[in-house]
Amino acid sequence: MMAFVNGRMLTEKKAVVPVTDRGFLYGDGVYETIRVYGGKPFLLQDHLRRLNNSMAGVKLAPPMSLIDIGRAIQKVVAVNKLTEAIVRVTVTRGSGPRGFGIDGCAKPTVVVVAWKFGGYPADQYRKGIVAAVVSVRRTDPQAVPADIKSNNCLNQILARMEATGLGAEEAILLTSGGQVSEGSSSNVFAVKGGAIITPKIDGSLLPGITREWVMRVAREAGFGVSEKKMSVSFLMEAEEVFMTNSVMEIMPVSRLIFNHGATRQELRMGPYMKTSGFVGPVTVELLVRYRESVRSFGRG
Ligand code: PMP
Repeated sequence: MMAFVNGRMLTEKKAVVPVTDRGFLYGDGVYETIRVYGGKPFLLQDHLRRLNNSMAGVKLAPPMSLIDIGRAIQKVVAVNKLTEAIVRVTVTRGSGPRGFGIDGCAKPTVVVVAWKFGGYPADQYRKGIVAAVVSVRRTDPQAVPADIKSNNCLNQILARMEATGLGAEEAILLTSGGQVSEGSSSNVFAVKGGAIITPKIDGSLLPGITREWVMRVAREAGFGVSEKKMSVSFLMEAEEVFMTNSVMEIMPVSRLIFNHGATRQELRMGPYMKTSGFVGPVTVELLVRYRESVRSFGRG
């Protein structure tokens, strides 16, 4: 794999950053993960906009223009001859004097890497995944603003570790106030009475680009869509639950585990087992429409 590192295309072996890079030392950086279909980064402009917002949120002056970061992404895709892929762009504060102060950190690091990825197995979309509402709470937005997509992912990693230990593929984190927030690397949706509901951003979760796109696709398909505060009991009583991100698109949840102290509960979503695996009809329809929207994207 050829990677972009500070303006140069390098082989994976040569694509290195200094051991004093603050992205490595402190997680002092931001990133984006983008899905590539047919050689084209999907919703690239939205990802660049969010990257810009994350950089502004940590006062990281972009070392190159957003247009040039977009070009670097395209270049990594082209040079590696990728059609179906995942791209990750990382911008860190680079190296500087020892300690947390940011004075003297003159040269941010920009890295773009890519992996071939043709999607998760079709079977997974029929079976759905297990998601666990974990006891690890989402970092409070008063501590770290939720719209900064930061390199410091320990909160999500701890949540995912707990979920994995429970036999789940994804974690659902609650806010410090006990409301449903988001997945470790995804957003959460519930279907109730045929309508689609997702937790309101309210500064308390990452504004997922897929989340926004799915709401648009759902509204165009005539579904009622609302953003609300979501309680755990609402989620547990939903007819269908699915999770979204750029890589997994719309992933049905077929089983929910609730893991909070003495109250450990496990339930199966919806009465759909016989017809389409464990996946409900609204989720299935949205996934079909999402994929159509990907195919027609950029065709005007
Ligand atoms: N929430 C978190 C915490 C994430 O890391 C991600 C993945 N970037 C998402 C939500 C989903 O975002 P997107 O749809 O933009 O991939």
